[in-house]
Amino acid sequence: MADSTADHVLIIEDEANISSFARMYLEAAGFRVSVAERGDDGLRMATEERPSLVLLDLMLPGMDGYEVTRRLRAEGNLPIIMLTARDDAVDKVVGLELGADDYVTKPFNPRELVARVRAVLRRTDERQVEPAGPEDTVLELGSLRIEVGGREVFADEERVALTPKEFDLLVTLIENRGIVLTREQLLERVWGFTFLGDSRTIDVHVRQLRRKLGDACPIQTVWGTGYKVAAKR
Ligand code: CA
Repeated sequence: MADSTADHVLIIEDEANISSFARMYLEAAGFRVSVAERGDDGLRMATEERPSLVLLDLMLPGMDGYEVTRRLRAEGNLPIIMLTARDDAVDKVVGLELGADDYVTKPFNPRELVARVRAVLRRTDERQVEPAGPEDTVLELGSLRIEVGGREVFADEERVALTPKEFDLLVTLIENRGIVLTREQLLERVWGFTFLGDSRTIDVHVRQLRRKLGDACPIQTVWGTGYKVAAKR
């Protein structure tokens, strides 16, 4: 009998050698694992089985990984780690823009895969526990208002839908107002660990925040260093 209290990972991947490799290591690390070989089956299983996290390939029969991400994000914040081809920057950027939490490039190191699954789940847990603290905190900057506990953001009184990572990135920068944070520091604080040299992730999220928040976005680029929110605005 599988441990019903263990975190459940749904792998959506059509290449059996990859899914069985991932499954073996995840089960050894204590996770419950189920596998779907088609995108449409995976989406259905994600809805029915309510896993803790989805490990999602992009090129899939039935429905591609982008569409699966889009549909899962329309329903909620189920954590998603994408499996992408090595060095395919476009895949990563598009996937992160759609709201994936992280990605792992194939072929992956199984220990790194397990570490990333744990890191994403840890962040998700913290998010659920956090509102016990300063849940009433409201951050206001110019026309931007952030209700930290409710994870709601308003620009000019209009609610703006942000992905979990976009929200965390914005709040981290605002909480460190006046201080320049490097991409590496932001990766550590928002993702909980350092991506192996891939600071592009931060740029993608900042670009999305600027697009969504428009003139209300307080994030400034500090060339050659990172990003900051000015101390006074
Ligand atoms: Ca595939």
